[in-house]
Amino acid sequence: MSELDANIQKLSSYLERFRATGVLNQIGGEARPALSGETFQTHSPVDETLICDVAKGGAADIDAAAKAAREAFPAWRDLAATERKKILHRIADGIVERAEEIALCECWDTGQALRFMSKAALRGAENFRFFADRAPSARDGQSLPSATLMNVTTRVPIGPVGVITPWNTPFMLSTWKIAPALAAGCTVVHKPAEFSPLTARILAEIAEEAGLPKGVWNLVNGLGEDAGKAMTEHPDIKAIAFVGESRTGSMIMKQGADTLKRVHFELGGKNPVIVFDDADLDRALDAAIFMIYSLNGERCTSSSRLLVQDTIADEFEARLVERVNAIRVGHPLDPGTEIGPLIHKTHFDKVTSYFGIALEDGATIAAGGTRVGSEGYFVRPTLFTGASNQMNIAQEEIFGPVLTSIRFKTEDEALRVANDVDYGLTGYVWTNDLTRAMRFTDRLEAGMIWVNSENVRHLPTPFGGVKASGIGRDGGDWSFEFYMEQKNIAFATGQHAIPRLGAL
Ligand code: NAD
Repeated sequence: MSELDANIQKLSSYLERFRATGVLNQIGGEARPALSGETFQTHSPVDETLICDVAKGGAADIDAAAKAAREAFPAWRDLAATERKKILHRIADGIVERAEEIALCECWDTGQALRFMSKAALRGAENFRFFADRAPSARDGQSLPSATLMNVTTRVPIGPVGVITPWNTPFMLSTWKIAPALAAGCTVVHKPAEFSPLTARILAEIAEEAGLPKGVWNLVNGLGEDAGKAMTEHPDIKAIAFVGESRTGSMIMKQGADTLKRVHFELGGKNPVIVFDDADLDRALDAAIFMIYSLNGERCTSSSRLLVQDTIADEFEARLVERVNAIRVGHPLDPGTEIGPLIHKTHFDKVTSYFGIALEDGATIAAGGTRVGSEGYFVRPTLFTGASNQMNIAQEEIFGPVLTSIRFKTEDEALRVANDVDYGLTGYVWTNDLTRAMRFTDRLEAGMIWVNSENVRHLPTPFGGVKASGIGRDGGDWSFEFYMEQKNIAFATGQHAIPRLGAL
């Protein structure tokens, strides 16, 4: 039996329980259908077949989940942090035990290739371990004495929080948001993306099996404009951690205004990879290809704009075309596959619409530009050349395996073009000139920049974007800053003079 067939067989056994019950919500420790009894369906992007029904939660389910999170909050907040640490490590153990199930379900639900998803499941476990270890120091503060007072700062968890996640790497992103919230002592209501609900359910089960008290982690499936909106408006939810599109972030900010929600946004990107002619071009080529064509290009940090110096552009683009044409598009459960199908018909239509837009803009399709097969949402990895930065293909987030190549002459021009977009999530700079790298990265508008490297995540570092790419940072202590409130307590150290109003 081929590895693909073996994986399909294993997947089928993992899916049986979802076919039997559908994907249920989890509220106050109970697996429940939506209170309305309504469901929606999730389909596989591989062959468009039905995977299962999903509970279609709405405002009433969000209300029940928010109440459960509110009730569970005081005990979870007051639990010794060392106990929270143990539970979070047990969740990580549970993820590792079920890593194969998570990876196979994620691939089938999202279309992401197994070669990347098996690692994403384990990265999810690492996220839990990282924040578990930091839980005991989350409340630490400073002592700031004055002449008359001993000021002591401490941090306290903000309360029940809402987590809203997208469909591109749903499992990893959910852990990335939920683990620090729990470590900080917050309780959680999670609303996963409607296109990819399977692994959020598995994750919530793992958490309760690990001993997480009931109501600490609640899961409500449903549509964004329905369950998602209700969560952002709920008065018991004190903050919203959101990962998704920039325009959804803007809607959430408006929806949350009446209840003064604290928001943390990780949004879209149109990230440049800038290749100067003095760079190690072999490594630059590998990294540029990896950063746009891995994860189906459905990656917020993808390097979707190649800015290449004109002196090397002909050769670099020619080598790029050769490699892009050799990328293996196929079944996501085949270990050899490098690109699987796009998540959904709506997204497939959006991505493929840019093939026509590129030609209308006056660019050239140097590779790809076609769908693959007639079933599922497969596309050939695509490269547009002859582009200018004003074109739609250079300004808009396509969120697929599609790269736009733009040539530049000078460092100043490269910087101007790199910054001339609404977004500012990541930048990738390739040069062996150290002073140029320092000068350029200082002026590049992005939350995260890698020099002579692809995106390699290091959990203690700040993750997030500027401009339309986000508000706030994740990682290290930055995650706790979002999920916790600072408190200052001032103790009088003596008998300092208190102004005496009304006294003689
Ligand atoms: P999306 O904004 O359409 O949906 C994300 C989530 O928001 C879903 O759960 C959806 O149901 C919910 N939602 C939609 N409307 C809502 C509303 N009015 N109120 C509350 N919730 C609502 O995004 P998507 O298409 O699922 O994901 C792709 C986007 O996510 C891309 O733009 C990508 O760049 C971005 N992304 C960013 C990062 C990052 O770290 N910056 C990481 C991954 C993905």
